[in-house]
Amino acid sequence: MQIIATRLAGLLRAEDTVARMGGDEFTILLPSLEQAQDAAVVAQKLLQSITAPILLDGQELYVSASIGISVFPFDGRDGQTLLRNADVAMYRAKDQGRNGYLLYTEAMNSTAFERLFLESSLRKALEQGEFMLNYQPQIEAESGHIIGVEALIRWRHPEIGIISPAKFIPLAEETGLIIPLGEWVLREACRQAALWQAQGHRLIMSINLSARQFEDRELVPKIRSILSEAALDPAWVELEMTEGAIIHNTDRAVQILRELRALGLRLCVDDFGTGYSSLSYLRRFPLDVLKVDRSFVQDVTEDSAGQAIVRAVIDLAHALRLKVIAEGVETEAQRECLVALGCDAMQGFLFSPPVSIEKLEAILDAARTSAPA
Ligand code: C2E
Ligand code: MG
Ligand code: MG
Repeated sequence: MQIIATRLAGLLRAEDTVARMGGDEFTILLPSLEQAQDAAVVAQKLLQSITAPILLDGQELYVSASIGISVFPFDGRDGQTLLRNADVAMYRAKDQGRNGYLLYTEAMNSTAFERLFLESSLRKALEQGEFMLNYQPQIEAESGHIIGVEALIRWRHPEIGIISPAKFIPLAEETGLIIPLGEWVLREACRQAALWQAQGHRLIMSINLSARQFEDRELVPKIRSILSEAALDPAWVELEMTEGAIIHNTDRAVQILRELRALGLRLCVDDFGTGYSSLSYLRRFPLDVLKVDRSFVQDVTEDSAGQAIVRAVIDLAHALRLKVIAEGVETEAQRECLVALGCDAMQGFLFSPPVSIEKLEAILDAARTSAPA
């Protein structure tokens, strides 16, 4: 940060201003431009200087940047508007790939504004308790018993209504808000799991972790303290992560997974088969469960590529002493087929969609009376 700040300051004139706004964002004011286009020339120079390698402890580091530009008076007559529109342009520049600049245009504002709106309300939503978890039962293939639930987050927006995680998790990841949000999910799911355990429901609680959470150095201690806070036996907690999340940062990922495993948690690869073609990580990583992606389950009943893949995943998993769960099971025919292939567990609309705590308890009670075992 200091090196970049020095480089930025070195390129600007005395009447210009450079300020770090927080995080890794800088704002630069150029008060005496002849014409708007000159801002682009400056941006170009700044990018060049930022991307020059940084020598740190004998290592060369490379940094990239995205720049958004707004120009007075065209793009705003007050500081607040100018800053906001520069921000909008910066997000657009970021979307187009790293290391570029964009001048603000009116047209950017529609979707970008929605984004900013969503981002700021996402922050507030966490403070105001607008998130909730739904739980989707996981069924043991052989017995049909509910052996676990997956916690899936929902945003109960006061005006818009229920917003699905597909809409806000990517934004939460990009803005870093996934760190406190993911922590809330962990805490809430563990608290609920402990409650259910106390009521005699022996359920595994599956919790989704995002790639970004793996970059949080405090992840393992956080999980440790959440577990002890909830007085929950870690053996009842399973963490789901995508292949991308763990492969991205292999050495560190192996280390983190080992530590989590040492705490006694179970580890599951979510959406298995959609991420990376390399399977060598299965050998290196301490895993317990592979979750076959819904896209393969969809055509498992036909003599299809999907079926071949599910069959291969099940055989592979079992050879590595891993369990297999299939997600997105919607039909009886799919269920039968998966049972025949030797799949260990299933999850999907056929059994139940993700539901509220109350509904899940009704399902558990019904299952208890029909199958007292
Ligand atoms: P996922 O972890 O792969 O979750 C499975 C998704 O499939 C869920 O969508 C679930 O509602 C849906 N689903 C379940 N059964 C069926 C079925 O039979 N058919 C079909 N078509 N869909 C089914 P949802 O709840 O919208 O979540 C989407 C994704 O958002 C999740 O995918 C997960 O990646 C992410 N997500 C959800 N909650 C969290 C969370 O607490 N933290 C993080 N980091 N990500 C989360
Ligand atoms: Mg999942
Ligand atoms: Mg999945």
